[in-house]
Amino acid sequence: MIETTNVKAFGTEAAEAPLNELGISRRKPTAHDVEIDILFCGVCHSDLHTAKNEWHGTQYPCVPGHEIVGKIISVGDHVSKFKVGDTVGVGCIVDSCRECQYCQDGLEQFCEPGMTGTYNSPDKYLDTPTFGGYSESVVVDENYVLRIPENLDLAATAPLLCAGITTYSPLRHWNVGPGQKVGIVGIGGLGHMGIKIAKAMGAEVVAFTTSEAKFAEAKRLGADEVVMSKDKDQMAAYTGKLHFILDAVSAEHDINAFLSLLRVDGSLALVGAPEQPLPVAAFSLIMGRKSFSGSMIGGIAETQEMLDFCGEHHITADIEMIDIQEINQAYERMLKGDVKYRFVIDMASLKK
Ligand code: NAP
Ligand code: ZN
Ligand code: ZN
Repeated sequence: MIETTNVKAFGTEAAEAPLNELGISRRKPTAHDVEIDILFCGVCHSDLHTAKNEWHGTQYPCVPGHEIVGKIISVGDHVSKFKVGDTVGVGCIVDSCRECQYCQDGLEQFCEPGMTGTYNSPDKYLDTPTFGGYSESVVVDENYVLRIPENLDLAATAPLLCAGITTYSPLRHWNVGPGQKVGIVGIGGLGHMGIKIAKAMGAEVVAFTTSEAKFAEAKRLGADEVVMSKDKDQMAAYTGKLHFILDAVSAEHDINAFLSLLRVDGSLALVGAPEQPLPVAAFSLIMGRKSFSGSMIGGIAETQEMLDFCGEHHITADIEMIDIQEINQAYERMLKGDVKYRFVIDMASLKK
């Protein structure tokens, strides 16, 4: 029998229910575990999709949160990579089989039997789903824990653990760099990180937004040009101009309008995960031998590489700090695209 402790968390019991304070069990650290006191947790749109069961598969109670930054408060007997007092991060993955080809290649996100997600996955130790970072503390195997560069602000670093890696990984995979014109679609949590990271990789960045208010600001985030994607004339000016497009939109939208902006052999990678399918016209791909693809977060080693890259380039998220008690209003605002550009929960608010 595994020993557990009770900790305070914030989560929901049903798709239609608001998030509320609830109690959860965490295992006591086993030999390779570290116990982390959570300081900050970013609010990803995936938290909202999952809490509201928009991807059909949510186990309740559901405690979201996979952009975790905290301090280690205890370590198991055989932990060698970290010590008590270290400041660390936990992203979307807390375990995987460690044996399949993908795990061996550092692609734990595609683990064949399935990675263990930070929340809403079968827990390897307990009879519950895994519970995420909207909680006081979390216990994680040291092999799935990340080091935070010392020069970065902790709260603003939390969103790198999902929004950062989810944009960094495809930008690397599709070799984005100098001499390329890259589109970033949807300037939310993911999109604003995409602008900063693509720019730091040396690409020329074009931001596509539906929000008048972000139009003026996208350049401050690092975009070279900004396009109002609802304006047909502005869109037409970019036909056939982009080498690569990263689409981080959380809702239904016209994907063909963006495919038409790619150059011959260009790729559009989806990271946004809308609830409904996105119809693709055959001619959007045939004309110009274009690729339409997707990407999911990134492996553990690549997440560390991304954090180190962000440390070197002084990149963090633009955040709005909230108390955990404000999470339901934050979800409402996120649905309206009214976030600049990531909510981060000050977890001290849960301990009050
Ligand atoms: P977010 O902060 O809410 O940003 C989404 C952005 O999409 C909005 O800011 C808005 O940008 C745009 N948008 C929203 N509704 C739209 C509509 N109806 N038409 C056109 N544009 C619209 O969300 P996020 O946390 O960045 O996440 C974005 C998506 O990525 C979510 O679906 C999330 O679940 C998914 N995700 C995927 C992965 C992965 O591994 N692939 C990882 C994390 C998240 P503008 O205001 O600029 O138009
Ligand atoms: Zn996420
Ligand atoms: Zn595996």
